[in-house]
Amino acid sequence: VNLPPLVRSSRNLGRLLRAGRGSIGFVPTMGALHAGHLSLVRRARRENARVVVSVFVNPTQFGQREDFAKYPRDLAADRRLLAPLGPSILFAPGVGEVYPRGFDTTVRVGGSLGRVLEAAWRPGHFEGVATVVARLFALVAPRRAYFGLKDYQQFLVIRRMCLDLGLPVELVPCPTVRETDGLAMSSRNRRLDARRRFLATALVRALLASAALAGQGERSAPRLKAAGMRVLRAAPGLKVQYFEVADPETLLPLRRVRGRAMALTACTLGRVRLIDNISLMVPGHA
Ligand code: AMP
Repeated sequence: VNLPPLVRSSRNLGRLLRAGRGSIGFVPTMGALHAGHLSLVRRARRENARVVVSVFVNPTQFGQREDFAKYPRDLAADRRLLAPLGPSILFAPGVGEVYPRGFDTTVRVGGSLGRVLEAAWRPGHFEGVATVVARLFALVAPRRAYFGLKDYQQFLVIRRMCLDLGLPVELVPCPTVRETDGLAMSSRNRRLDARRRFLATALVRALLASAALAGQGERSAPRLKAAGMRVLRAAPGLKVQYFEVADPETLLPLRRVRGRAMALTACTLGRVRLIDNISLMVPGHA
Protein backbone atom coordinates (compact mmCIF):
# COMPACT_ATOMS: atom_id res chain seq x y z
CA VAL A 1 0.00 0.00 0.00
CA ASN A 2 1.13 3.53 -0.78
CA LEU A 3 1.74 5.85 2.13
CA PRO A 4 0.05 9.23 1.60
CA PRO A 5 2.45 12.04 0.72
CA LEU A 6 3.49 13.85 3.90
CA VAL A 7 3.41 17.61 3.40
CA ARG A 8 4.97 19.89 6.02
CA SER A 9 4.75 23.36 4.50
CA SER A 10 1.78 25.37 3.30
CA ARG A 11 3.75 26.29 0.16
CA ASN A 12 4.18 22.61 -0.80
CA LEU A 13 0.55 21.93 0.03
CA GLY A 14 -0.53 24.76 -2.27
CA ARG A 15 1.70 23.43 -5.05
CA LEU A 16 0.35 19.90 -4.72
CA LEU A 17 -3.28 21.05 -4.61
CA ARG A 18 -2.89 23.36 -7.62
CA ALA A 19 -1.36 20.48 -9.62
CA GLY A 20 -4.49 18.32 -9.22
CA ARG A 21 -8.17 18.86 -9.86
CA GLY A 22 -11.56 17.89 -8.42
CA SER A 23 -13.32 18.60 -5.16
CA ILE A 24 -11.28 18.53 -1.94
CA GLY A 25 -12.64 16.85 1.17
CA PHE A 26 -10.84 17.94 4.34
CA VAL A 27 -10.51 16.13 7.67
CA PRO A 28 -8.78 18.28 10.31
CA THR A 29 -7.38 16.28 13.25
CA MET A 30 -4.84 16.44 16.05
CA GLY A 31 -3.46 13.03 15.08
CA ALA A 32 -3.10 9.84 17.11
CA LEU A 33 -5.65 8.62 14.60
CA HIS A 34 -8.24 5.99 15.54
CA ALA A 35 -11.30 4.43 13.91
CA GLY A 36 -13.34 7.60 14.60
CA HIS A 37 -11.00 9.72 12.52
CA LEU A 38 -10.81 7.02 9.86
CA SER A 39 -14.60 6.98 9.48
CA LEU A 40 -14.40 10.70 8.60
CA VAL A 41 -11.63 10.02 6.08
CA ARG A 42 -13.63 7.20 4.46
CA ARG A 43 -16.66 9.45 4.12
CA ALA A 44 -14.48 12.22 2.64
CA ARG A 45 -12.97 9.65 0.25
CA ARG A 46 -16.44 8.61 -0.96
CA GLU A 47 -17.66 12.16 -1.54
CA ASN A 48 -14.63 13.93 -3.03
CA ALA A 49 -12.05 13.53 -5.77
CA ARG A 50 -9.26 14.41 -3.33
CA VAL A 51 -8.80 14.13 0.42
CA VAL A 52 -6.58 16.17 2.73
CA VAL A 53 -6.10 15.01 6.32
CA SER A 54 -4.35 17.48 8.60
CA VAL A 55 -2.53 16.51 11.78
CA PHE A 56 -1.82 19.53 13.92
CA VAL A 57 -1.84 19.62 17.70
CA ASN A 58 -2.97 23.20 17.99
CA PRO A 59 -1.35 24.84 21.02
CA THR A 60 -3.85 27.71 21.15
CA GLN A 61 -6.83 25.47 21.97
CA PHE A 62 -5.21 24.04 25.12
CA GLY A 63 -5.50 25.85 28.44
CA GLN A 64 -2.58 26.51 30.80
CA ARG A 65 -3.25 23.45 32.92
CA GLU A 66 -4.29 21.19 30.04
CA ASP A 67 -2.55 18.29 28.34
CA PHE A 68 -0.87 19.92 25.31
CA ALA A 69 2.56 18.46 26.19
CA LYS A 70 1.08 15.03 27.01
CA TYR A 71 -1.23 14.87 23.98
CA PRO A 72 -0.32 11.65 22.08
CA ARG A 73 1.65 12.12 18.85
CA ASP A 74 2.56 9.38 16.36
CA LEU A 75 2.76 10.72 12.82
CA ALA A 76 4.37 7.57 11.37
CA ALA A 77 1.49 5.43 12.67
CA ASP A 78 -1.06 8.00 11.43
CA ARG A 79 0.44 7.79 7.95
CA ARG A 80 0.29 4.00 7.93
CA LEU A 81 -3.36 4.04 9.04
CA LEU A 82 -4.33 6.34 6.17
CA ALA A 83 -2.61 4.26 3.47
CA PRO A 84 -5.29 1.54 3.04
CA LEU A 85 -8.13 4.10 2.80
CA GLY A 86 -7.14 5.25 -0.68
CA PRO A 87 -5.24 8.29 -1.90
CA SER A 88 -5.00 11.25 0.44
CA ILE A 89 -2.58 13.97 1.37
CA LEU A 90 -1.29 14.11 4.94
CA PHE A 91 -0.71 17.74 5.92
CA ALA A 92 1.28 18.01 9.15
CA PRO A 93 2.45 21.60 9.46
CA GLY A 94 4.64 22.95 12.23
CA VAL A 95 3.39 25.69 14.54
CA GLY A 96 5.32 28.32 12.56
CA GLU A 97 3.53 27.31 9.33
CA VAL A 98 0.08 27.72 10.83
CA TYR A 99 0.97 30.83 12.85
CA PRO A 100 3.75 32.67 11.00
CA ARG A 101 5.60 35.51 12.68
CA GLY A 102 3.24 38.42 13.19
CA PHE A 103 0.06 36.30 13.23
CA ASP A 104 -2.39 38.31 15.31
CA THR A 105 -5.98 37.27 14.56
CA THR A 106 -8.49 35.45 16.73
CA VAL A 107 -11.88 34.15 15.62
CA ARG A 108 -14.39 34.13 18.45
CA VAL A 109 -17.90 32.75 18.16
CA GLY A 110 -20.18 34.51 20.64
CA GLY A 111 -23.61 33.78 22.05
CA SER A 112 -24.45 30.76 24.16
CA LEU A 113 -22.20 28.44 22.11
CA GLY A 114 -19.20 30.50 23.15
CA ARG A 115 -20.26 30.60 26.79
CA VAL A 116 -21.75 27.33 28.09
CA LEU A 117 -20.54 23.75 28.72
CA GLU A 118 -17.14 23.24 27.05
CA ALA A 119 -16.68 26.99 26.64
CA ALA A 120 -17.26 27.52 30.38
CA TRP A 121 -14.89 24.74 31.43
CA ARG A 122 -12.20 25.49 28.85
CA PRO A 123 -11.86 29.28 28.58
CA GLY A 124 -10.28 30.22 25.24
CA HIS A 125 -10.66 26.70 23.83
CA PHE A 126 -13.14 27.50 21.06
CA GLU A 127 -11.27 30.67 20.11
CA GLY A 128 -8.29 28.40 19.48
CA VAL A 129 -10.42 25.90 17.57
CA ALA A 130 -12.28 28.45 15.43
CA THR A 131 -9.08 30.32 14.60
CA VAL A 132 -7.14 27.22 13.59
CA VAL A 133 -10.03 25.83 11.55
CA ALA A 134 -10.44 29.14 9.71
CA ARG A 135 -6.68 29.20 9.09
CA LEU A 136 -6.65 25.58 7.85
CA PHE A 137 -9.67 26.24 5.61
CA ALA A 138 -7.70 29.08 4.02
CA LEU A 139 -4.70 26.80 3.41
CA VAL A 140 -6.62 23.78 2.12
CA ALA A 141 -9.60 25.54 0.46
CA PRO A 142 -11.82 22.46 0.78
CA ARG A 143 -15.25 22.00 -0.82
CA ARG A 144 -16.33 19.90 2.17
CA ALA A 145 -15.00 19.44 5.71
CA TYR A 146 -15.75 16.49 7.99
CA PHE A 147 -16.33 16.77 11.75
CA GLY A 148 -17.24 14.19 14.38
CA LEU A 149 -20.35 14.67 16.49
CA LYS A 150 -18.41 13.41 19.51
CA ASP A 151 -17.35 17.06 19.69
CA TYR A 152 -20.91 18.30 19.26
CA GLN A 153 -20.39 21.84 20.57
CA GLN A 154 -17.30 22.19 18.41
CA PHE A 155 -19.38 21.30 15.37
CA LEU A 156 -21.97 23.96 16.28
CA VAL A 157 -19.24 26.57 16.84
CA ILE A 158 -17.63 25.86 13.46
CA ARG A 159 -21.00 25.84 11.73
CA ARG A 160 -21.78 29.27 13.24
CA MET A 161 -18.39 30.60 12.14
CA CYS A 162 -18.87 29.36 8.55
CA LEU A 163 -22.36 30.86 8.36
CA ASP A 164 -21.32 34.21 9.82
CA LEU A 165 -18.16 34.61 7.75
CA GLY A 166 -19.73 33.13 4.61
CA LEU A 167 -16.94 30.56 4.28
CA PRO A 168 -17.63 28.48 1.16
CA VAL A 169 -17.19 25.11 2.88
CA GLU A 170 -19.88 22.47 3.25
CA LEU A 171 -19.68 20.99 6.76
CA VAL A 172 -20.43 17.28 7.09
CA PRO A 173 -21.27 16.07 10.61
CA CYS A 174 -20.32 12.40 11.20
CA PRO A 175 -21.61 9.99 13.86
CA THR A 176 -19.53 9.11 16.92
CA VAL A 177 -17.56 5.88 16.54
CA ARG A 178 -17.44 3.80 19.72
CA GLU A 179 -15.46 0.93 21.21
CA THR A 180 -17.37 -2.36 21.60
CA ASP A 181 -18.26 -1.41 25.19
CA GLY A 182 -19.67 1.93 24.06
CA LEU A 183 -16.82 4.26 25.06
CA ALA A 184 -16.51 7.02 22.45
CA MET A 185 -13.19 6.66 20.68
CA SER A 186 -10.72 9.39 21.57
CA SER A 187 -6.99 9.89 21.28
CA ARG A 188 -7.07 10.56 25.02
CA ASN A 189 -8.38 7.05 25.80
CA ARG A 190 -4.87 5.67 25.35
CA ARG A 191 -3.80 7.64 28.43
CA LEU A 192 -6.21 5.65 30.66
CA ASP A 193 -4.84 2.75 32.71
CA ALA A 194 -6.89 -0.49 32.76
CA ARG A 195 -8.94 0.48 35.83
CA ARG A 196 -9.82 3.92 34.51
CA ARG A 197 -10.43 2.56 31.03
CA PHE A 198 -13.14 0.39 32.60
CA LEU A 199 -14.62 3.29 34.62
CA ALA A 200 -14.69 5.47 31.49
CA THR A 201 -17.70 3.54 30.19
CA ALA A 202 -19.73 5.38 32.85
CA LEU A 203 -20.07 8.34 30.45
CA VAL A 204 -21.89 6.42 27.74
CA ARG A 205 -23.87 4.41 30.31
CA ALA A 206 -25.03 7.66 31.92
CA LEU A 207 -26.05 9.11 28.57
CA LEU A 208 -27.90 5.91 27.66
CA ALA A 209 -29.73 5.91 31.02
CA SER A 210 -30.92 9.43 30.30
CA ALA A 211 -31.89 8.57 26.71
CA ALA A 212 -33.80 5.48 27.85
CA LEU A 213 -35.82 7.54 30.33
CA ALA A 214 -36.59 10.11 27.62
CA GLY A 215 -37.67 7.23 25.40
CA GLN A 216 -40.20 6.26 28.08
CA GLY A 217 -41.73 9.73 27.85
CA GLU A 218 -39.93 11.62 30.65
CA ARG A 219 -39.78 15.32 29.72
CA SER A 220 -38.37 16.81 32.88
CA ALA A 221 -34.75 17.79 32.28
CA PRO A 222 -33.86 17.61 36.01
CA ARG A 223 -35.08 14.01 36.11
CA LEU A 224 -33.24 13.15 32.90
CA LYS A 225 -30.11 14.67 34.40
CA ALA A 226 -30.57 12.81 37.69
CA ALA A 227 -30.72 9.50 35.80
CA GLY A 228 -27.37 10.24 34.20
CA MET A 229 -25.79 11.61 37.38
CA ARG A 230 -26.69 8.42 39.30
CA VAL A 231 -24.59 6.36 36.88
CA LEU A 232 -21.68 8.80 36.98
CA ARG A 233 -21.64 8.99 40.79
CA ALA A 234 -21.38 5.20 40.98
CA ALA A 235 -17.97 5.30 39.24
CA PRO A 236 -15.30 5.72 41.93
CA GLY A 237 -12.73 8.43 41.19
CA LEU A 238 -14.67 9.84 38.28
CA LYS A 239 -15.23 13.60 38.61
CA VAL A 240 -18.19 15.14 36.82
CA GLN A 241 -17.64 18.59 35.30
CA TYR A 242 -21.12 18.72 33.80
CA PHE A 243 -24.00 16.52 32.72
CA GLU A 244 -26.53 18.72 30.98
CA VAL A 245 -29.74 18.31 29.02
CA ALA A 246 -29.68 21.11 26.49
CA ASP A 247 -31.29 22.60 23.43
CA PRO A 248 -29.64 20.99 20.37
CA GLU A 249 -29.02 24.35 18.64
CA THR A 250 -28.19 26.83 21.44
CA LEU A 251 -26.93 24.30 24.02
CA LEU A 252 -28.79 26.30 26.68
CA PRO A 253 -30.07 24.10 29.53
CA LEU A 254 -33.67 22.96 29.24
CA ARG A 255 -36.32 22.58 31.92
CA ARG A 256 -38.56 20.41 29.78
CA VAL A 257 -37.75 18.45 26.66
CA ARG A 258 -40.08 19.12 23.77
CA GLY A 259 -39.17 16.66 21.05
CA ARG A 260 -35.40 16.57 20.70
CA ALA A 261 -32.63 17.51 23.11
CA MET A 262 -28.99 16.72 23.63
CA ALA A 263 -27.49 15.20 26.74
CA LEU A 264 -23.84 16.19 27.06
CA THR A 265 -21.24 15.33 29.66
CA ALA A 266 -17.63 16.03 30.56
CA CYS A 267 -15.77 14.11 33.28
CA THR A 268 -12.23 13.61 34.41
CA LEU A 269 -10.54 10.38 35.41
CA GLY A 270 -7.24 11.28 36.99
CA ARG A 271 -5.67 13.76 34.59
CA VAL A 272 -7.65 12.55 31.57
CA ARG A 273 -10.66 14.58 30.52
CA LEU A 274 -13.41 12.81 28.57
CA ILE A 275 -16.52 14.15 26.82
CA ASP A 276 -19.50 12.46 25.18
CA ASN A 277 -23.07 13.24 24.16
CA ILE A 278 -26.25 11.62 22.92
CA SER A 279 -29.41 12.81 21.22
CA LEU A 280 -32.56 12.47 23.35
CA MET A 281 -35.94 11.92 21.79
CA VAL A 282 -39.16 12.15 23.80
CA PRO A 283 -41.92 10.32 21.89
CA GLY A 284 -45.17 12.03 21.02
CA HIS A 285 -43.48 15.04 19.42
CA ALA A 286 -42.97 15.56 15.71
P1 AMP B 1 -9.37 15.43 17.22
O1 AMP B 1 -8.18 14.75 16.60
O2 AMP B 1 -9.75 14.86 18.54
O3 AMP B 1 -9.26 16.92 17.19
O4 AMP B 1 -10.59 15.07 16.28
C1 AMP B 1 -10.57 15.35 14.91
C2 AMP B 1 -11.93 15.10 14.33
O5 AMP B 1 -12.29 13.73 14.53
C3 AMP B 1 -13.00 15.95 15.01
O6 AMP B 1 -13.95 16.36 14.04
C4 AMP B 1 -13.60 14.97 15.98
O7 AMP B 1 -14.94 15.27 16.31
C5 AMP B 1 -13.54 13.68 15.20
N1 AMP B 1 -13.61 12.53 16.10
C6 AMP B 1 -12.87 12.32 17.21
N2 AMP B 1 -13.26 11.20 17.83
C7 AMP B 1 -14.29 10.70 17.11
C8 AMP B 1 -15.15 9.56 17.24
N3 AMP B 1 -15.03 8.71 18.24
N4 AMP B 1 -16.12 9.37 16.31
C9 AMP B 1 -16.26 10.24 15.28
N5 AMP B 1 -15.48 11.33 15.10
C10 AMP B 1 -14.52 11.56 16.00
